[in-house]
Amino acid sequence: MADYYNVADIFGENVFNDAVMQTRLPKKVYAKLHQVMEEGKELDLETADVIAHEMKEWAIEKGATHYSHWFQPLTGVTAEKHDSFITAPMENGKVLMSFSGKELIKGEPDASSFPSGGLRATFEARGYTAWDCTSPAFVRQDAAGATLCIPTAFCSYTGESLDQKTPLLRSMEAINAQALRLLRLFGNNTSRKVTPSVGAEQEYFLIDREKYLQRKDLIFAGRTLFGAMPPKGQEMDDHYFGTIRERIAAYMRDVNKELWKLGVSAKTQHNEVAPAQHELAPIYAQCNVAVDHNQLVMETLKKVAGRHGLHCLLHEKPFAGVNGSGKHDNWSLITDDGINLLDPGDTPHENIQFLLVLTCILKAVDEHAALLRASAADVGNDHRLGANEAPPAILSVFLGEQLEDVIEQLVSTGLATHSLTGERLDTGVKTLPDFMKDATDRNRTSPFAFTGNKFEFRMVGSQDSVAQANVVLNTIVAEAFCEACDVLEKADNFDLAVHDLIKEYATKHQRIIFNGNGYSEEWVEEAARRGLPNIKSMVEAIPAYVSPESVQLFERFGVFTKAELESRAEIEYETYAKTINIEARAMIDIAGKQIIPSVIKYTTVLANSLSAVSGACADADVSVQTELLVETSALLSDVKVALAKLQDVTERAAEMAHGQEQALYYRNEVTVAMEALRKPVDQLEMLVDKEMWPMPSYGDLLFEVSAI
Ligand code: ADP
Ligand code: MG
Repeated sequence: MADYYNVADIFGENVFNDAVMQTRLPKKVYAKLHQVMEEGKELDLETADVIAHEMKEWAIEKGATHYSHWFQPLTGVTAEKHDSFITAPMENGKVLMSFSGKELIKGEPDASSFPSGGLRATFEARGYTAWDCTSPAFVRQDAAGATLCIPTAFCSYTGESLDQKTPLLRSMEAINAQALRLLRLFGNNTSRKVTPSVGAEQEYFLIDREKYLQRKDLIFAGRTLFGAMPPKGQEMDDHYFGTIRERIAAYMRDVNKELWKLGVSAKTQHNEVAPAQHELAPIYAQCNVAVDHNQLVMETLKKVAGRHGLHCLLHEKPFAGVNGSGKHDNWSLITDDGINLLDPGDTPHENIQFLLVLTCILKAVDEHAALLRASAADVGNDHRLGANEAPPAILSVFLGEQLEDVIEQLVSTGLATHSLTGERLDTGVKTLPDFMKDATDRNRTSPFAFTGNKFEFRMVGSQDSVAQANVVLNTIVAEAFCEACDVLEKADNFDLAVHDLIKEYATKHQRIIFNGNGYSEEWVEEAARRGLPNIKSMVEAIPAYVSPESVQLFERFGVFTKAELESRAEIEYETYAKTINIEARAMIDIAGKQIIPSVIKYTTVLANSLSAVSGACADADVSVQTELLVETSALLSDVKVALAKLQDVTERAAEMAHGQEQALYYRNEVTVAMEALRKPVDQLEMLVDKEMWPMPSYGDLLFEVSAI
């Protein structure tokens, strides 16, 4: 029986949010914390003590027994170290529950168990977590009890970032500073802060848990390593989408409730792309909070699935031949007084500012396309980007007809005098056409699309953190703003100068604009003519992090040091190698222990039938058995050959030293050998008696959840 509740009552009930702080903290402490949050000041220990005490009291009321510094190391998932509030027993045998300011603002997990990409070789192994007071603490309730989770950044002893959060916060500071400069040029002296807003739409698959447990590939790799397409594919999914079945509906209800309690404004919806695939979109929040929320969304989707006898697959490509999953990173810049810099606005004055912002973004994306591509690189995403699936690996920007036309006019005549709506506006330097907000999202193939008042970066993988993508976006746009301001602040005639600059940027970077079909072969050729990079894999994308331009960019804005970038590149190579190694070993195991023995059994059945039938009746037609036996045996020997090859290259790969060369070997040799093994196995799956096939098929996995 479903429980009924008022969303407004439960929303954020497990979050130590502003409303809670306002009621529970002494006025002076509350004011001080706000100052720290808004101006990035240091929090003194005395204030921290008061906050910690109140936070603990509040958490204990929610049943919390432990607290944890919750952080995002470079493993892709979140990490935490739990500590109890309980202090040493007092003389009367009772215990005290305590939590100090020091414990709130600083923690010391063992850094050596998290990836550091060589930073540890030069720096101390010690790592610290530091409270990110701009992201609210929350109580998480699950089977382990209730825990007070404190979002933190994770740094080495010497301040090198070892996580996703630290550079993200730094990049937010960078864009804030540069965006404010830009606003001041346009006469805005009232906004005090500009923050990137992010809404990350999450795609995922749901399958039956019992079936999941019967597939070692899903257990080890999170994706199927073998599997033939079901006779009923994506093109035939009509019956499935009629209604959301009860079990899925109950799951979504539960997910929403859990997330609402954590202050994540989720609205789960049905996705119409692949069978068993769904999507969850939250309402956007300030960048670092949105990144935290997306981690909570992923955790919650997985956790709640178990309760409903389901399993949630966050992998980018759980099933070959079926649409994969991604994450749309909706991004805009909003001031503390509610002005969205990506809103085209209604007056020419606003339009000029908007056009400058827009052309700065075009410049940023064009100049750092490879870096932006790298920010979305992750092992699973290699099956999407550049593999004939949304979106392509080539970065381009979709503006929509009207904006593209404005850019076209600017480039060809230097003046944009009309908009496509047909209205004619005054000509003149200061005047640019009014924009019709084109919120319709007509181009699903674009990796970077303008959607009315925000950009939607669609390359990020479904299981990846959105932190990296936003670090890059924030920083490259900060740089473009900075360079524009450097010119404009010195200009004698601002109106003329801004006009010239917009024209210059539009002309120089027009090549990044593409409104056509991003999947087409023509686009690949056209993009090559335009000189746009087409980086097909993660391993090829990683070098962009450590290119001279990237190092200069990140050091200039204090987001990453060269050493941090090098360490990140190392970690990415290692992650790639480790992941492919696991997949290859899982394949070897499954092929050797499950598939070959099953196929042998099947050939024995065929052989027995053949001899039994022809023995019983010499005239009987045994051509079917014969053909099947010949075909199956031939494929079986292909499997054996491919398996031996995969074993060989996997062993070689594992012996190589970590780094780029090893990662390249995994990509060029191991993944190729994996494909070669998969092919005959998938062909066999179509021949072998279903009863004898050792694992549930794609059809069982994809269509049966819907039938429940
Ligand atoms: P679309 O139709 O373009 O997909 P939606 O309204 O469905 O837009 O929103 C998609 C996602 O974009 C949601 O997560 C939403 O919160 C987020 N979003 C909306 N406006 C903004 C904005 N200004 N900045 C960042 N994200 C936004
Ligand atoms: Mg969208």
